[in-house]
Order: sequence, then structure tokens, then C-alpha cells
Amino acid sequence: MVIPANILAECHEHGVEAYPEETCGFVVGNKDETDSLETVYPMRNIMNELHEEDPEQYPRTGRDGYMIDPREHMKLERSLKKEGKQIKVIYHSHPDVGAYFSEKDKEDALWNEKARYPGITFLVCATNKGKPGDAILADFNTDAGDFDITQIPANNSASSSGLLGGAFGVTGILPTVDFIHEWKNGERELEYGYFRFVPHKKIKILQTELGARHQVRHTLAYCSGRAALLELLAYLQDSRPQTKLHLASTESFLLDALKSLEISYSPFHFNKLPEAEIFSAKEGDVILLAPENPESFVNENTEWIENFKRLRVPVIIFGELNSEFRQPGFKRDWPIGLTYWVADFSLPESKALPSGIQGGVIMSNNDRQMAELAELRKRRGAVLSARDAANFCENFAKISEESQSLSGNSGKSASNTTSAPEAAVVRQLCEWEHAAAGLLFPSGMAAIMAVLTLLRKKDKPRLIVIGLLYSDTYSLLIDSGKSSTWDAVFLGLHELDRLPEVLTKDTAMVITETITNPLCGVPDLERIGKLTNALGVPFVVDNTLASPANCRPIDWGADYVIHSTTKYLNGTNDHAGGSVLVKCPENAIALKNFQENWGLEISPLEAEVLWNRMQDFEERMKRFNENSLAVANYMEEHSEVARVYYAFSPSDVSCTSAPKLLSGNGGVVSFVLKNDSEENLRRFYDGEFSSILKAPTLGSNQTLVCPYPLLTHYHASDEELREIELPRYLIRIAAGCENEIEPILADLESALLRTTR
Ligand code: PLP
Repeated sequence: MVIPANILAECHEHGVEAYPEETCGFVVGNKDETDSLETVYPMRNIMNELHEEDPEQYPRTGRDGYMIDPREHMKLERSLKKEGKQIKVIYHSHPDVGAYFSEKDKEDALWNEKARYPGITFLVCATNKGKPGDAILADFNTDAGDFDITQIPANNSASSSGLLGGAFGVTGILPTVDFIHEWKNGERELEYGYFRFVPHKKIKILQTELGARHQVRHTLAYCSGRAALLELLAYLQDSRPQTKLHLASTESFLLDALKSLEISYSPFHFNKLPEAEIFSAKEGDVILLAPENPESFVNENTEWIENFKRLRVPVIIFGELNSEFRQPGFKRDWPIGLTYWVADFSLPESKALPSGIQGGVIMSNNDRQMAELAELRKRRGAVLSARDAANFCENFAKISEESQSLSGNSGKSASNTTSAPEAAVVRQLCEWEHAAAGLLFPSGMAAIMAVLTLLRKKDKPRLIVIGLLYSDTYSLLIDSGKSSTWDAVFLGLHELDRLPEVLTKDTAMVITETITNPLCGVPDLERIGKLTNALGVPFVVDNTLASPANCRPIDWGADYVIHSTTKYLNGTNDHAGGSVLVKCPENAIALKNFQENWGLEISPLEAEVLWNRMQDFEERMKRFNENSLAVANYMEEHSEVARVYYAFSPSDVSCTSAPKLLSGNGGVVSFVLKNDSEENLRRFYDGEFSSILKAPTLGSNQTLVCPYPLLTHYHASDEELREIELPRYLIRIAAGCENEIEPILADLESALLRTTR
């Protein structure tokens, strides 16, 4: 459904009139015409009256809730019946909290576990400081018990942005090219953005709360305490190569994990703490303490720890947070001399929290180091699930009530056992991909990071990269201090003849993607598989862009197949996750050990959402394939388009393997305008789209558009872009799985009409 601009403006106007209260009402149209939307009927919000009568049953007021006057509603229904009209949309405003669907909206949309307003679409209009903001439109999916966002109506304010995917959305709207420039130049912070880059609001709230309770300036949340600690150690090792770790630990996992990081250490015992003066910052000494009870260790050894402040030797404490921190009003002084406090705050399943919570945190007053760690977290992907963060924030009180009975778990993840949905997802992925085993991760990047770190060996320095990899995979390989010692060989898709010559026994892995992003080249997996298999060199394929429906890299010789499940497998932009599928069961054992040691398990809540969304994956994928080809064919014929990139392109030499390897095109189609300039890109991108959303991800059920290189290669020079054959003003369409492609093509037609030769 598309909301006409005049109707949207009326709904917004009503929201502005009622500001700072919430408002509500209906949009009505002809009964027999699905898309007819004619008249806005503002309704009375009776929330204040209900609250006054019974504040216990109705704790909200008109400031943060709405209830349509049932008498007005009935009266309207009666008159509409006579006129052959029907309520099509129910709208309400959100004063100063942005356009999203809240848990309360979800509750209100249900009645006895069924849709309260069957067939009616929901519209939320944000009113920011009394001015119209973003809007978001969704149908309620009773089976999923959640909103399916169908459209974000065009922004009427170019400076605003919206979250795509509802309450747990994973990506934000980028309304204009200028907006992107401001963000990239550090002149604007994104309120909403891709989940790894802009932490969800609930994650920010949780970080702030933990920081306040521990009186520390910076907190960074991770998917587990172990992940937090190992990310910190990997960072220290890369940023201070002279690091000498001195370890006192009761945690056996640490020893395995340090081995996988190739970090050596000198052990000491808690019952015989060495004199602080024997350590020196100049020598690169770092103290890592993992006592059974960190809080009492800190309290009992205050003076010893304080010495390290004078010596400027970093001290890291690792362990579970004292359960008292969950009590309301808890505050503790930050221990003098302590540099990092790394903690797990996972909780097992309980009455208050049926699915438990999985998470960890690094706290520190070191400004630069924490800023750098935050940057690394974006790229390495060991992120906390927004659902776990929300659960924690919303249940702080309940958790603290139960906290006496909740046993801690000293850095182990909340669920050492695999949840039923996680097992179901893995079983299904293995069946689709012909894999022996598989594991789920907190993000696609965490999955990639796990495979790369696992396969990295000192005695096998060579790494072969084929084609242009996803930008974050590429920077993970190139930018990290440790990997700079790698002997990395980059081969273009047309340079496979060179592979036998560069593929040596000291190659740790060959890595590629089934369809490259955004140029849509298709590497000949069969040829690479034969060569790597013959030498026993691990062959890693990121199959995200093809999806398990269109390609099975294991059939062509791949040993490890990776997916960002955030994309097609989910489809609704409200889940973050990744998977690794393996050909040989032995490789699965090593990977599982690695995952456990690094605390990189997916949250059970994310696995559950993913499993629900995967039910119609094959069906959706057929439409992704058809829609993208319709877009590609349309673009190929268009006089304003210079070049189109898509996997099934008959004229592109980098795509000759597509018919052999792929059973579908996937959703991505990129193109370059005839007048390939920033001005022309603005004409195309900055205008209004009715059905396409301006957001940076792919595999979304709704079609998305973004100026991809401006997001991923903003600071690259012309020469660097030329080298990787990436046009700076390329536009990427990530086709969705809409039932009707005409509105998408019509949007593209209007956008192309805005451009000039
Ligand atoms: N691999 C590819 C090909 C991708 O496009 C992406 C994300 O865009 C990733 C991996 C990373 O996945 P995630 O964003 O879930 O960490």
C-alpha cells in the first residue's frame, strides 16, 4: 500500500495539532478497491480519561499512549457501511520518540492472540518537537506476532531519518546524498543505521546504565563476556605488538582462546601476587586477572591494583558482574589503577526471563582505546543482540528481584545448549547447502571473523582473495595489525589462470563470494574448488548474495560456506545473525570449540526470529530472483543508463559462470548512469520514491536503493576505485520480493526521468 502524500500530510497535521499528546485516527477508502485511500478521520484519544479513572489498569496517559474512542469508532463504521467505504489504515502519532512500532503497539494490535483489526494497515507518524517527522507503515502479521513493515513513506524532511525493520530494525533510511556526506564527514551522527555501525537505542541505554552504575566513562556491549575479553586482547595485540601478557586465571577457556590468537603469556597465582614494581609499561606488560569473584578480589587488593596507576601498566579484570549491580540505585566507585573491567552479564533462563540473556561488556575510562574498540566492533561483528539488550533494560527491576536466586556463570554464555530454533535453522541450512554441520553467529561479520581467525596460522602466511569482497571482510583481512604480516594475493575474476601458480601448500585459505557485491561478478567456484581440494587448502565462500536457494558452494568444492542471515534468510530487516556451514564434520568440531571459547553464539531470541522468517524463504527467493531480473532488463533498455551489473548479465565476462553455478540472480542489480556524476546521482537519489526505500542493506523483502560506493568507499581515491573497477557513483538496487514489480519500475522510471544526460 502506498500512502498518498496529501493523506500522509493530513495525518501528520493531526499529530502536530495534538502535540505533545498522541493522536489517532483512520484513513478510509472504497471497500472494493484494495489500494483506495480517500479520507482521513481523526478520532478522539481517550487515554487521559482512562488513566484518570483507573491509573492502575491504564498506566499510560495521552502523552505516551492512545485509545480510540469506541463510540466514535462505532459511529464511523456504521456510516461507512452505508457508503460502501471501509477503514483501511489506523494511524497514531509518536511525539518526540521517532517512528517505530513499540511493544505496546504490538500488544494493542492483538486481541486474544488474533489481529484486533484484521486487514487494516498501521501507520505511525513521528512528531518531533511539534513538527512532522518520519512515518512508518506496516501490516500486522498475526503468525509472527509482529509488524511487517511495508513502507516508509517519503521523508518530508530531508534531514530526518528512520529505522527500517520496526522495533528491532537493523538499518536506517539515508534520505539524501548530502545526508550521506554529512555522516561520512563526521558532521552528523546517525540516529538509525546499519546495526553494526549504529548500535540500537536499547544497546545504548544498557551501556549508559552499566556505565552509570560502575562510574566509568565508556562501556561497550558485546554478545558475551568472552567475546568482549578476546576482542580487547586481539585489539591490544594488534595495537601494541610488544604486549606481554601476565595472567592469573581460574578460566580454562582462556588458555585455548589465547592459543587461537597466538598470544603468549606468563602465568602467576592469585595466592602469590607479584610485587607490582616488577612490571613496566615500557616493556609492554599487561596484567590480566580472571578471579573467581572479581568484586571481592578488587575489594581485597585495592592497594595492589592502585600501584599500577603510577606504573601506567594496564590492568584488566575479567569475570562475572556482582549480581548487586542490578539493584536499583546501585553505584560503585571505579577502582583506581584498573584499566578495563570486562564482564559477562548473561543470565540463565528464569521466570522473569524465559529465554535468558546473553551479553558482555568492556568498561574503561580510556577514551582513545575505547573509541578504537568501538570501531573494531563494527567490523568484527561480535555485537549484542538488540533483543537481549531490550530484555535487559526492560527487566532490570524484575531481574534484580530474582537476582538472589540466579546463579552466575563466570563468562560462559547463558545457554551452553543449542536452543530448539537454532537447531532447526542449522538443520535446514545444512539440508539446503548439502553441509555436514553448521553454526550460527551473532552477525555475518562474526561468522567471517571466526573462520578467518580459525584458519589463520603462523606457518601458513598466504591468503588468496578472489574478486572484490564485501568491504568489511576486505578491511578485516587488510587493516588488522596482525594480518598485515600476511602474504595476501588478490586475483580478479578474470585472473583465475594465475591461481595454480600462486596456490601453494602454505596457503591458509582461498576466499571468495558466490556473487560479488556490488559488481555482481560470479567466480568459477568449480575451477577454484578443484585446485584447492587437490592441495588440501581450505576454500571459503561467502554465499550471502546468492543465498542457499541459488547456489550450493559445497557441491563445487567449498569447505566453509558463510551467510549473513541478516539478509535474505530473514527478509524483514529485524534480525542480525550469521552462519557457517562446513563440508567435513572434523572442521565443525574445531569451529565449535572456537565459537565456545570466543563466546560467539547467537542469541536464542535472534535464532527464534530467524527460524520464523525462514518458513517462506524459498517462496520469497523465487520472487527476489524474478524481480531483480525484471529490474535488470528494464535498466538494460533504459536510455539514461550506461551499464548494468547483475549475476545473469549475458554480456558481462565476469558472469559467464552464472548459468552453471546459480539457479537464480539473487536481488542485487547495480547500475551507472549515462551522466556519471554526483549531480546526476543527486537528481536520481534525492527525489521521492513511493515504493523503494533508501537504505543500505540487501535481501530485504522490500526493494532498497543506495549509492553503495559512497557508503563503503567514501574516502577511496579515484585511482583506488579504478583499480577495483568500482564506479564512485554506482547505484545499487537490492530488489525485494514484492508481488508486483510495476510500482518498483514506475519509481525507477520517475527517478531516471529526473536525471540528465
Ligand atoms: N557478507 C556479505 C556479502 C555482506 O554483504 C555482508 C553485509 O552486508 C556481510 C557478509 C556481513 O553481514 P552482517 O552485516 O550480518 O554482519
